[in-house]
Amino acid sequence: MEKNKIIYLDNAATTAMSNEVYREMIDAYGKLYGNPSSIYGAGREADSALRKAREKVAKAIGALPSEIFFTSGGSESNNWAIKGIARANRDKGNHIITSVIEHPSVLESCRALEKEGFKVTYLPVDEFGVIKYSELVKAIGPNTILISIMTANNEVGTVQPIKAIAELAKANDVIFHTDAVQAIGHIDINVKDIGITALSISAHKINGPKGVGALYIKKGTKIQKLIDGGEQERNMRAGTENAPAIVGFGRAIEDATANIEENNKYLKSIRRYFLKTISDAIHNIQLNGHNTQRLQNIASISFEGAEGEAVLMMLDREGIYVSTGSACASGSNKPSYVLLAMGKDADTASSTIRFSFSKNTTKEDIDYAVEEIRKAVKKIRSISAIRIYKNKVEL
Ligand SMILES: *Cc1c(COP(=O)(O)O)cnc(C)c1O
Repeated sequence: MEKNKIIYLDNAATTAMSNEVYREMIDAYGKLYGNPSSIYGAGREADSALRKAREKVAKAIGALPSEIFFTSGGSESNNWAIKGIARANRDKGNHIITSVIEHPSVLESCRALEKEGFKVTYLPVDEFGVIKYSELVKAIGPNTILISIMTANNEVGTVQPIKAIAELAKANDVIFHTDAVQAIGHIDINVKDIGITALSISAHKINGPKGVGALYIKKGTKIQKLIDGGEQERNMRAGTENAPAIVGFGRAIEDATANIEENNKYLKSIRRYFLKTISDAIHNIQLNGHNTQRLQNIASISFEGAEGEAVLMMLDREGIYVSTGSACASGSNKPSYVLLAMGKDADTASSTIRFSFSKNTTKEDIDYAVEEIRKAVKKIRSISAIRIYKNKVEL
């Protein structure tokens, strides 16, 4: 294997832009300099590009174009959905239900609302990362206005029973928002069939550009604006639209949702190959997450006695990019709250690496990566064994 090979196994953190997206964006950067709100030619051209991209996003999730609002990404969409819906429906009640394993942009939005007097129930999950449905049923009360549960988790890949949640929400006249940032392109989502009121998407997780996303808001839903100012996005989200990025987003979501089944088949085979190879090569490892209710591109593995951050750094030197927990939590040195919520102890959580594949990941990549992981884990385990031994001697 040649040196300086780069093996990117962190596609749940972000993805590389596809060539198709890149080419459309370069073209758009050259041409779409007009402000979409201007009524002369260049403005109309940008506006027309926005319209086409909006149609693509809408089609990808079974929504109407008028129900799609462009944002700066998944975090903004989640903030807007949760704060905007809660504040606009305050007259109906002040109770929100979410789960303990949501993305920080959901959890922190809920915490912010608690300071405004809202009450939030953070549902627990089982050992596989699935929310406890019976707890959800119990949590709904007369003051409940919003349920926000992610479609798929970014650290372990567990998929939630969103159809059942949507039905329960509807039966109780509660709004249902879902963070589908990780799920789009991996799960076929039709917001009308499932009964979703609001849904967050981000372009950079599906081979699109960073800093652009969308919020789907079902027609007729009461929601406050988050960004005040001009009348962009049908007077719901101020700020000049990033037309080239939105064009790239349109292309990315069109491509991501065109071949879900075929891509999943490939990812499933790659993931299986990875799991088989790594369990043959390394002993005392644990696979986290659900076996079947899951995304096929994520594998979360705990390596007993090997600090995740240390493994990550050794792999980095070999050009293999992975992450501990989620990108948002790494660097903080705190064990993943998702894994802790699934009942893992702090040591297990700290010795966990998330591998996330793409349709460009090959079996050769896996072979090379697993060999380097094996070496790294072996080395770190031997160092920590010495440390543990020394500590005992000192005691
Ligand atoms: C990445 C991610 C987000 C945040 O999206 P950004 O576009 O990076 O702000 C939100 N939710 C989940 C599940 C994610 O994986």
